[in-house]
Amino acid sequence: MSSPVGAATPLDNGSGGGNHNLPAARAESCFPTPRRPAGVPLGLYLHLPWCRSKCPYCDFNAHAATPREAAYCAALERDLEIAAPRVAGRRIGSVYFGGGTPSLFSPHALERILDACAARLCLEESAEISLEANPESATRLKLKDYRQLGVNRLSLGVQSFSTSALQELGRAHDARRARRAVRDARRAGFDNLNLDLMYGLPGRTAAQTLQDLSAALEFEPEHLSWYQLTLEPGTVFAHRPPRALPGGGALETMEQEGYALLESRGYRRYEVSAWARPGRECRHNLNYWRFGDYLGLGAGAHGKLSLERAVERESRPPSPVRYMREAGTASGWSARPLRAADLRLEFFLNALRLPAGVASGLWRQRTGLPLSAVREPLEQARARGWLCPAGPRIQPTEAGLRWLNELLELFLPETRAARPRHEKLENG
Ligand code: SF4
Repeated sequence: MSSPVGAATPLDNGSGGGNHNLPAARAESCFPTPRRPAGVPLGLYLHLPWCRSKCPYCDFNAHAATPREAAYCAALERDLEIAAPRVAGRRIGSVYFGGGTPSLFSPHALERILDACAARLCLEESAEISLEANPESATRLKLKDYRQLGVNRLSLGVQSFSTSALQELGRAHDARRARRAVRDARRAGFDNLNLDLMYGLPGRTAAQTLQDLSAALEFEPEHLSWYQLTLEPGTVFAHRPPRALPGGGALETMEQEGYALLESRGYRRYEVSAWARPGRECRHNLNYWRFGDYLGLGAGAHGKLSLERAVERESRPPSPVRYMREAGTASGWSARPLRAADLRLEFFLNALRLPAGVASGLWRQRTGLPLSAVREPLEQARARGWLCPAGPRIQPTEAGLRWLNELLELFLPETRAARPRHEKLENG
C-alpha cells in the first residue's frame, strides 16, 4: 500500500502534516559530516512484513503470521548500523512504517525501533512520522500509545465501509470495526489521518462506490488514498478473478463522480490516487514522487541514495526469516548504481504521477543529467498531448494522466516490449 521531506529544497514546499514535534529526547543533534549530496531530501522507510491474513489481491511483501517482534527489532538495529554511515549528517524529514500491518506491532516495539533510529540517524524535530494501521489491530489503547511515541500521521487501511465488500476482499475487519478505528484514531489525538479506500470492487455499482466515498468523507480525513482494485500477477485474484468486476464505462463513471465529490469537499488530487486537504499532502510519499532519497530498512525494503559519484538503489532480502538472520551482515543488503536509462525511467515513473508535475530543473538536480538526455521522449509526449508545452515545469496533461502507462513507455530504454509497472508505493 507506497512515497517525504524536510531538509527542503526550494521544490519541497514543506507541505504535509508534520505538525507535531518528536519527543525532545528523540530529536537528537546531527552528527558532523563532510558529505551533503546536493540537497536531495531524505526519508526513512521501515517495512514491517506481517499481517493477520493475506488478502487475495495483495502483492506486497506481506506474510500471514504473528510478528516476531524482538528478533525483528534486533535485526532492524543491526541493519541501522550498516545504513547510518551512508547517510551520515543528512537530516531525515519523514519516517514511514509500512507493511504488512505495522499496527500488529506493540507500541513498545515501535518505541524500540524509533529510539534506535534516533540514536543512529539525524531525525528532524518536526519529522512527519507515519504509521500504517489496519482496523482489526488498531485498538484504542495502542493508537493512544503510538501517538504518544511521536507518530503524528496515521494511515488506516479501511478499503471500504461495506461489510460485504470487505468480505469479498478477504479483509479481516468489517464496517463496524472500520468506523470504530477511525473514531479511536481521532480520540487518540491523530489530527493527520489518511484513509485508504478502494473502488472498482466486485459487484459494486457506481452509486454504491460513491456511498462508500461519502462514508469516508463523513470522518473528514485530512488525506484519502482512493485507488482502483487491480489484479496483480501472482495474487489469488489474478488466478481466480472475482466475479462481476466493473468494466471500463462503470469505472469511468465512478472516477468522474468521485473526483467531483472529492473536489467539492475541498480535497486536491496531488498524485494519481492521492487526495489531500491543502497542506496535508503526505511528505514521505511526495519525496518518492519527486525522486528524493530514502533509506529502506526491513525485509524486502528498497532504498535510493544519491552518493557523490552515483545514485544507488539498495535492497534487503524479502524473506523475513532471511532478513532477521542476515541483517547487519554483508549478505543482508545490496546496492547497485543506477544507469542513465534506469534514472530516466525511475524519475519519470515517479514524477509523472503528480498532476502538478515537477520543476524542469529537478531532473538535473536529482539525476545529474542534462535535460537534453530526455529531449526525445519529452517531445514525443508533448506531440501526443500527454505533457504540457515546454516551460518551467514538466507536467502531465489530463490525457497524460489518463494514459499514464502509455506515457511512461516513452521513457523505457530501447525496447518498448515491456509495459512498465509502477514501483510499489504505500498508498497512504
Ligand atoms: S492487510 Fe494490506 S499488506 Fe496485509 S495482506 Fe492485506 S493488503 Fe496486503
